[in-house]
Amino acid sequence: MKLYNTLTRKIEEFTPINPPNVTLYVCGPTVYDFTHIGHMRTYTNNDVLRRSLAYRGYKVNHVMNITDVGHLSGDDDSGEDKMEKGAKKYGKTVWDVAKFYTEFFFKTTDALNILRPNTVCKATEHIEEMVQLINRLMKNGFVYETKEALYFDVTKFKNYGKLSGQKLKEKIQAVRAEVNVDKGKKHPADFALWFKRVGRFADHTMHWPSPWGEGFPGWHIECSAMSMKYLDETIDIHSGGIDHVPVHHENEIAQSEGATGKQFVKYWFHNNFLTVDGQKMSKSLGNFYTLDDIEKNKINPLSLRLLFLQSHYRQPLNFTWQSARASQEAFNKLREIALNLKPQKKLVSLKSSKALSYQKQFEDVISNDLQTAQAVATMWDMIKSDITNDEKYFLLIDFDKVFGLNLDNVTEEKIDANIIILAERRLEARRKRDFDASDRLRIKIEKAGFKIEDKGETYSIKKI
Ligand code: AMP
Ligand code: ZN
Repeated sequence: MKLYNTLTRKIEEFTPINPPNVTLYVCGPTVYDFTHIGHMRTYTNNDVLRRSLAYRGYKVNHVMNITDVGHLSGDDDSGEDKMEKGAKKYGKTVWDVAKFYTEFFFKTTDALNILRPNTVCKATEHIEEMVQLINRLMKNGFVYETKEALYFDVTKFKNYGKLSGQKLKEKIQAVRAEVNVDKGKKHPADFALWFKRVGRFADHTMHWPSPWGEGFPGWHIECSAMSMKYLDETIDIHSGGIDHVPVHHENEIAQSEGATGKQFVKYWFHNNFLTVDGQKMSKSLGNFYTLDDIEKNKINPLSLRLLFLQSHYRQPLNFTWQSARASQEAFNKLREIALNLKPQKKLVSLKSSKALSYQKQFEDVISNDLQTAQAVATMWDMIKSDITNDEKYFLLIDFDKVFGLNLDNVTEEKIDANIIILAERRLEARRKRDFDASDRLRIKIEKAGFKIEDKGETYSIKKI
């Protein structure tokens, strides 16, 4: 298995610390607002990584955090806590906001058939672990205190910037001069480990006691503390979006390695963005779509998954409704194929050399830094080939262990009685050669989410 490692900027052979076990930590969502399909591209690709590792025989232990405190609107410790912002926007308590958007997040990941992590852990339930980690960092001389907060002193950590390759000098220019930022902060890249409930945070709703007074943790410390608690001090893979490289993950490395003196993560896995008109899909730009928008547009969330599979995780992908609809068509076709191929008795193993070579080709492209687009192309080639139908079905279900399109669960769609009535009226109109009426009825049927095709004197209807 080969994977690109952001740390070395190379595609490397993946060798876990303790095979066949693999420790995988995924940075989870900040649950202050609706998760959008941009986030879902990242979580789908994480899921494909997990499934590919399992396909190759590894046993993956997958941990994901839920950020429900401490993530400020600026990654550089500026601005407001996103959770407090969400609470004000929706007129709810921060706890209700966290609960509601965590549930929406999982509703969305379930719809995309993204496997739930083995462990999901909330920042607010791990304050004790974070305080202990800050204490370890203090003992090792990485922390200083101001009136407002405790900071990690980046100049004390020799390799600060090793993930992004940014030198500290460049970092100074990259960090914005923010009016809100604590005047006691020594270096612009120093980051908060603990915010005290004073000054700009005097009214902060979520707060806990600590050796440094009431307050709340900085954003980055939660991932270091929970990764160590549920996995180990050194883990195999840590994943997130590319926006996490220069700040969040750089800071996670500094905190973790500063505390343990050990390498934090062996392989850093980063996902590129889903864009709209070339710009990152994001809440702040307002150019985002949620699961509800997808369903309202009669797009099956699993066809969104197929769309994501058709690009490489390290390349940006531009979202358009046209591409979503094209993917929907391809997905419908795939389901129909799966339904038609489904045998009475499934094959136990493959025998023909041609079928085995498709399986080998699939495994090779997946093992080559997750070339999912090539894997999808291999699937279509296999479907069009002259191997037996039973072999095709066997391979389709085998490949779907990685694709996760639920192809082994395809059943005949039940068509609503109202749609059948419209279709019958349309058939009648066609018989009378009233093509205007027949077109109007076709549009009505399509708007309800069904596709009607004429078959001589009759028709067929499918869900779009
Ligand atoms: P957040 O809730 O903002 O912490 O984001 C959750 C995850 O989604 C992070 O790993 C982000 O990097 C990722 N993410 C945010 N926006 C996008 C996008 N437009 N495309 C892909 N991933 C994204
Ligand atoms: Zn994180």
